[in-house]
Amino acid sequence: MLHKPRILVVEDESGIADTIQYVLATDGFTPVWCGTAGQALREFAAELPALVILDVGLPDLNGFELFKRLQALPGGAQVPMLFLTARSDEIDRVVGLELGADDYIAKPFSPRELVARVRAILRRSERALVPEPAAAPLNPTPAAPGEAAGTPFALDEERRQIRFYGRLLELSRYEYGVLRLLVQRPGRVFTRDELFDKVWTDGSGSLDRTIDAHIKTLRAKLKAVAPELEPIRTSRGSGYALSEDLPPERR
Ligand code: CA
Repeated sequence: MLHKPRILVVEDESGIADTIQYVLATDGFTPVWCGTAGQALREFAAELPALVILDVGLPDLNGFELFKRLQALPGGAQVPMLFLTARSDEIDRVVGLELGADDYIAKPFSPRELVARVRAILRRSERALVPEPAAAPLNPTPAAPGEAAGTPFALDEERRQIRFYGRLLELSRYEYGVLRLLVQRPGRVFTRDELFDKVWTDGSGSLDRTIDAHIKTLRAKLKAVAPELEPIRTSRGSGYALSEDLPPERR
């Protein structure tokens, strides 16, 4: 397999761009450096890349605007995009605006982590042939065991366990995967497609009914612990989110 997925690296700081290009190239990818948004638009239109790494702070256009323009190009919506952010308010925008970016990574980041993230996204999207995958975290900000800040949930990724108000939930593999995503980003609406892509890595089952069925059983399990609460919100027509106004502790 000699296919080397082409990856646009949109970053104006040459030092950072060099590092990214180096790790990508060593890992069997073909990085293409674009120092400006204008250059990225031209490269993208010339040949669709397998993935775009996108800095938020660019000299000619901010990364969010560039993201929208790339998505609007022919085939653009199908190309996974990973944001590079330098500030927490940028992270809030990436997550909060629900731009549909595939992931983000905060600066400073470890080059190994970046490559792991790139592999995970490409594996999920199955849009490129990826060299032998390394073990990579599914989520950009894995919570430490026992932490799911500000929520009544405690996540233990090593044991693949979730506690709700201190009670251990008995979850199936997919229920765990869905709840884990929701818990890590309270308030963020995950569409059925997204949940399916991120949790059903074996690609089995039919999309909507599968997700809805697991949400239903999850809700029943949460209700058994806190009957008066509705921790999983349905966002009509679009997907599911973890409620942001759950009391962290129960009276
Ligand atoms: Ca920058």
